[in-house]
Amino acid sequence: MSSRPIKKYGQHFLVDKNIIKKIVNAISPKEEDLIVEIGPGKGALTEELIKHSHNLILVEIDKLLVAELQSKFPQLKIINKDILECDFTKDFFDEKFRVIGNLPYYITSQIIFKIFDNYLKVKDAVFMVQKEVAERIVAKPKSKEYGILSVLAQFYSEPEILFTVSKNVFFPKPEVESAIIRMKIKSEIELNYDEEKAFRYLVKTAFNQRRKTLKNSLKNLFNDNQKEASQKFFTIQFDFSKRAEELSLNDFLYLAKNFYSIQKSN
Ligand code: SAM
Repeated sequence: MSSRPIKKYGQHFLVDKNIIKKIVNAISPKEEDLIVEIGPGKGALTEELIKHSHNLILVEIDKLLVAELQSKFPQLKIINKDILECDFTKDFFDEKFRVIGNLPYYITSQIIFKIFDNYLKVKDAVFMVQKEVAERIVAKPKSKEYGILSVLAQFYSEPEILFTVSKNVFFPKPEVESAIIRMKIKSEIELNYDEEKAFRYLVKTAFNQRRKTLKNSLKNLFNDNQKEASQKFFTIQFDFSKRAEELSLNDFLYLAKNFYSIQKSN
């Protein structure tokens, strides 16, 4: 059975053998690797990957494609589910694994955030994403691309753009260029669980109003009953006249640690 590309699932299939080989070379799968492929589609990448590694789990939302994949790869575990609904602890491998995929563009950021939620389970992620998203992931402070995705990606991983991919290698052809990004996930982070939550909340709050100074945007971290905590926070040693996009990852970590300890003591 063959299905037509479904737009709402972001289906753009790779049809160029050379680029498929180039992507799989960049992933450089080893026999011992445990790999989860997100959105295998018709198996363009899977076919090449399986030549190197057999410990492969596929996650595909579209049940017609799952039927196609099952007949092509009867030996593989294929999960017919939304990747965002998957439980990284129960659905995949017990040991750390690699995640790869030509991602459906409509949920790229959500998938990447899900990887960070599960950073303890993931070794690295090699994804095809829109070029503009790849640029946001590696962006440095004081650029217009720098935002939540950049700060979180650089906190949880060491991201690197490997190469760009022309829109002509897909069917149907997407509107924008793509890029292959590799995120080597850090095995440890320097925040405890609660500080990590505070960090994410603070980064989000700061960038939600990125044109405002931190003095204004970060007011929203506190509710009306937290006047004392808010006063304490804004008297720590920091230049709150800056805007979110001027802050380095270390600045965000410093603010998040202070925010957390002030919240805790109040
Ligand atoms: N890997 C194939 C290729 O390179 O030719 C297909 C890539 S296509 C850009 C994205 C794939 O992700 C599609 O097969 C689509 O059905 C699947 N997909 C879309 N949303 C998904 C989701 N939430 N969870 C799992 N797979 C999804």
